[in-house]
Amino acid sequence: MVKITCFKCHWSWSLGSKDVKAALDSLAPDENYYAIECPKCRRINKVTRKQLKQALPRAATEPAEPESKTESTPPDQEA
Ligand SMILES: [Zn+2]
Repeated sequence: MVKITCFKCHWSWSLGSKDVKAALDSLAPDENYYAIECPKCRRINKVTRKQLKQALPRAATEPAEPESKTESTPPDQEA
């Protein structure tokens, strides 16, 4: 989720992860920010690519690490 505060009217709203993903998908490789219209005053606000990326859920980018339970148990020594 990205929280946006309009630079003009200071209205703040947030983008859900779905909106963030759509925004990132619409960005051209050479564009470093996403232009979003303030729902209140219609001013264009800029959201940086970095902000969008940081807002994405971690699970989508990080591979799941399986918990390895390979505890080396010493063999029973019968003396
Ligand atoms: Zn505004």
